[in-house]
Amino acid sequence: MSILEVMNETIQIPDHYKNMKIEEMEARIKEIKAKFGTRLYIPGHHYQKDEVIQFADDTGDSLKLAQLSANNAQAEFIVFCGVHFMAETADILTNENQKVFLPDMRAGCSMADMANIEQTDLAWTKLQQIFGDTLLPLTYVNSTAEIKAFCGRNGGATVTSSNAKNMVEWAFTKKERIFFLPDQHLGRNTAFELGISLEDMAIWDPELEELQFQGDVNNIKVVLWKGYCSVHEKFTVENIEEMRSEYKDINIIVHPECSHDVVQLADFAGSTNYIIDKLQEAASDTVWAVGTEMNLVKRLGQIHSDKKVMSLNPNMCPCLTMNRIDLSHLLWSLESIEMGKPVNQIVVNKEVAKDAVKAVDRMLHRS
Ligand code: SF4
Repeated sequence: MSILEVMNETIQIPDHYKNMKIEEMEARIKEIKAKFGTRLYIPGHHYQKDEVIQFADDTGDSLKLAQLSANNAQAEFIVFCGVHFMAETADILTNENQKVFLPDMRAGCSMADMANIEQTDLAWTKLQQIFGDTLLPLTYVNSTAEIKAFCGRNGGATVTSSNAKNMVEWAFTKKERIFFLPDQHLGRNTAFELGISLEDMAIWDPELEELQFQGDVNNIKVVLWKGYCSVHEKFTVENIEEMRSEYKDINIIVHPECSHDVVQLADFAGSTNYIIDKLQEAASDTVWAVGTEMNLVKRLGQIHSDKKVMSLNPNMCPCLTMNRIDLSHLLWSLESIEMGKPVNQIVVNKEVAKDAVKAVDRMLHRS
């Protein structure tokens, strides 16, 4: 379901939450957490705001949080503070007695929404006509359950930004080519790191329904879905040049969802956990420009006050959809559970979940 369809079906938060004082909301959240104890679990993604993160039982990336939810069998109610595809992954991995909720159904992911199943099935048919049975699909975990299921059905797997290199290597042991969804940048950066030239990568444009490439079609090894993260795409080569001219010994670290040019010019590139660890290990008084989501960059700056940590793009905003989860939506979700009338439960169709699990399992067995 696209974010627009979700918004049309979304129950809106009652007005009285908008007028509540922060202290009142915080007190109620603490009260409900204490009342439910281990029956309630609140995973909080790294990109969430501090006002939400303060109530998270665990913080992490989407896969880690989904796995922690699944391993936490006592948790009947999982209030996932992240975006829609993350709550879907948690629902896929948890058992039937566990229910997953997203505090605001409008918290989608623009990247995940760039690949729907109809577009993907059509692309697959056309790509099979061009390349025959030589492609293995891989999808970034930042994708809908239906895209994960598509990969599961077709022998493919999910990847994270931490294990993408490992998974692309694995995919090439199975087939001659890979079809990488939905983030072209992670796919391109990973394949390039493995020695595949840019000329041997093509783009699948789902709007134009065509394969775009230069050179000989027979040499194509990687087909990249034309999707991107609207946050990470905003870091530019100009940002890097400006930072380097202003700070002589600056360290530039970026997420591989950034464009190829940006990743090539950065000093370091890696997953969110890699960025967190790198800042943790860094010496005092070092200067860092970080190319990732703003809430996390701000938090890293607060944690590492002995270092100068700033966003690579000074005009950067947080991920807008992640930011939809706020104190009032978290409280609304918790109170609805308390009243026995929970809102915004995420339920993935069983058939879809079965195939999606295959894709996730292939990744977990390989990682
Ligand atoms: S930061 Fe990018 S990939 Fe992550 S939820 Fe926001 S839009 Fe999606």
